[in-house]
Amino acid sequence: MPYSLPDDAAVKQYYAEHVNSGLLGLLGFMGLDSAEVEAEGWLVRTNDGREFIDCVAGYGSYNFGHRNPDVVRAVREQLERMPMSSKLLLNPVQATLAQRLAAITPGELKYSFISNSGTEAVEAAIKLARLRSGRPDIISAKNAYHGKTLGSLSSTHREHFQSPFRPLIANFGVVPFGDLDALEAAITDTTAAVMLEPVQGEGGIRVPPAGYLTGVRELTKQRGVLLILDEVQTGMGRTGRNFACEREGVEPDILVLAKSLGGGVMPIGATLGTEYVWELFQENPLVHTSTFGGNELACSAALAALDLLEHGGYAEMAERNGAYFIEALQGLQRDFPDVLAEVRGQGMMIGIDCVSKDVCELMIASVIEEKVFIAFALNNPEVLRIEPPLHMPVEVIDEVMIRLRRACEGTRMILEQFSQMQG
Ligand code: PLP
Repeated sequence: MPYSLPDDAAVKQYYAEHVNSGLLGLLGFMGLDSAEVEAEGWLVRTNDGREFIDCVAGYGSYNFGHRNPDVVRAVREQLERMPMSSKLLLNPVQATLAQRLAAITPGELKYSFISNSGTEAVEAAIKLARLRSGRPDIISAKNAYHGKTLGSLSSTHREHFQSPFRPLIANFGVVPFGDLDALEAAITDTTAAVMLEPVQGEGGIRVPPAGYLTGVRELTKQRGVLLILDEVQTGMGRTGRNFACEREGVEPDILVLAKSLGGGVMPIGATLGTEYVWELFQENPLVHTSTFGGNELACSAALAALDLLEHGGYAEMAERNGAYFIEALQGLQRDFPDVLAEVRGQGMMIGIDCVSKDVCELMIASVIEEKVFIAFALNNPEVLRIEPPLHMPVEVIDEVMIRLRRACEGTRMILEQFSQMQG
């Protein structure tokens, strides 16, 4: 190795002095300021010998588990041949990935632009929508999360993230998520595209009313507006379908993927579009490019991930185990209504409303004590989110439930002590 592993004290010092002391403080507050050193499946191990059950999965990046052996093998083999593209010759791994993506994704999606992350894939979607339509406006939803580079941030409607960076990019509209009438009223003849997550992730695991996406598709077709679906978090089996839009049979004009597309081993993003969307891009292919986008190593990981998605039964496991998990959590909520307010989700994308943001923080600290990874939603800090690897078996889910119950008991005790002190 080109470095020797520093001990925890040194890692903390380097974070404080060279990474971000605020971030170190935040992690320390939640009991997460230990160095991670190893992971496999749903387990993450630390330098100080602790082993966590991972129910966050890199915010949806480890649908196939940490260090999935099939993905690792594919990447190792590619590493020995050609990890990065010359950028001058044809790239056969990227070409194969584009062909496989076209085959596995819904509807008429045919072409793909490969990048390195979710936010880059969203940037490409915004640019392609503007290029194709010749119109400037992009409408997205309240509490949406599409990433934090400037274009994506302009559609990530949360004041806390947007306000330090104003002025943002102009012509980004916002509508309430799940409200078709509001969307209809917001579309004008300068609207290029409507961009939505099929289930809002960072917004607090918000599943829209049944028929909403179908309605959005019909509306955008009627009004001649492109539909971009951001499946960075919902895609790759997470919600119990390969892609969440398949639940209602909705076919977008542009589909955005990232996170688990890399099989949990490589970073990658993909922006897919129809023949119609790609037409002007083909006339002018250099208007949007990326040096590392489409590199062979990341594409080989994505090809292995698509194999797992197609043949490994991951979406089915997400549907089945997710229903089991949600039912168990709803039982827990009924036993602890003073701590947990509501449980909801789709497949293995599960949100738990705590009764308040403070209780959510107490719960996270207690759950971390129990050596389970759990996190709050970035746009909605009173929501705990549970997004484990999709193949987490019921025995492990049962163990997580035992630990969550203990965390609820601990949180209840603290709340009772508080109220005694006050009264
Ligand atoms: N879009 C969605 C729906 C996301 O959930 C995220 C990240 O959480 C992004 C885009 C941004 O992805 P990245 O963090 O890889 O830039």
